Amino acid sequence: MKIRHHFDDATLMAYSSGSLPQGMAVLVGSHLHWCDECRERVSQTDRIGGDLLEAIEPVAMEPDALASIMALIDQPEPEQKLRSLSSDRLDSARTGLPLPLASMLGSSLDELDWRRIGYGVQQYDLKLDGPGATRLLRIAPGVSVPHHTHRGNELTLILRGSYSDELGRFCVGDVADVDTEVKHQPIVDTDEECICLIATDAPLKFTGLMGRLAQPFIGL
Ligand SMILES: [Zn+2]
Repeated sequence: MKIRHHFDDATLMAYSSGSLPQGMAVLVGSHLHWCDECRERVSQTDRIGGDLLEAIEPVAMEPDALASIMALIDQPEPEQKLRSLSSDRLDSARTGLPLPLASMLGSSLDELDWRRIGYGVQQYDLKLDGPGATRLLRIAPGVSVPHHTHRGNELTLILRGSYSDELGRFCVGDVADVDTEVKHQPIVDTDEECICLIATDAPLKFTGLMGRLAQPFIGL
């Protein structure tokens, strides 16, 4: 896999510090599964974070802090977490998806319950908590997503096929990391469908007539 598009430093910094919404963290983790370069950048960011933590002066804890932490540790794990890592690895190998996404979906892309949201476009909403939305888009060859800008940040990871837009050409493993300044209109540029994972931290804002018509259906 030849990866040409990677994350901004700010995104990897936010991932490293644990401050990304859940969907964005899954998307970043999925790219890292495939990308040696970004994995190396994150380990550097982690080291910087560790050095900063060590430089902070210690402060006295509340008397009951240890008891509160132990109570939290004793709480049962959510059922989803009980799946073993080995079954997640099996999912990843079987579906060809990166491990963090495979363990969250538990099925292949073709087995998902896709919902048609417009001409040549289907969506699967991961329905995760937190601000923004996390969804898979499945776009037919030659179809473009309506022109849109962003109120917040939008991360996209290509899982199948490819698309082109004002920012370049994006193939499997590539990520698009765009913020409020970017206005773009991706179009699927081969005869293979394109499936991508998209995570935002705020709703999208579509521009132009087609975009305004599509907005209620896409429901963002
Ligand atoms: Zn990368």
